[in-house]
Amino acid sequence: MIKKIEHIGIAVKNLNNSNDLFKKLFGKDHYKVEAVASEGVSTSFFMIGETKIELLEATNENSAIAKFIEKKGEGIHHIAYEVDNLDEEMLRLKKEGFELINTTPKDGADNKRICFLHPKTTNGVLVELCEEKK
Ligand code: ZN
Repeated sequence: MIKKIEHIGIAVKNLNNSNDLFKKLFGKDHYKVEAVASEGVSTSFFMIGETKIELLEATNENSAIAKFIEKKGEGIHHIAYEVDNLDEEMLRLKKEGFELINTTPKDGADNKRICFLHPKTTNGVLVELCEEKK
């Protein structure tokens, strides 16, 4: 079951500059910075009510974030939904005809197991499913 919007991912060119910018916007600081080496990104998280804002900066030119910024510029990159059972949801959505980018769950930032749905099957929005690691 999809429970709520867990976070919104925003692609940025420079994480330090964007941390300053979003700190001014929100009136509070991020609560963590985390590198996800396997994805080639550095991330920073702000908590806004029950939803997080995840800033993503590419750490190498092959990273999906580097390619996204090259094509579209900075901006909203994905919406992440929290699910209670990632494996079940992946099976269910596959049956419904959605294309999974990774067919097995992988490790994401902030202690999550994650899976991405291809934007071509979700009206152009990159969807992340995430489950808190137990
Ligand atoms: Zn994310």
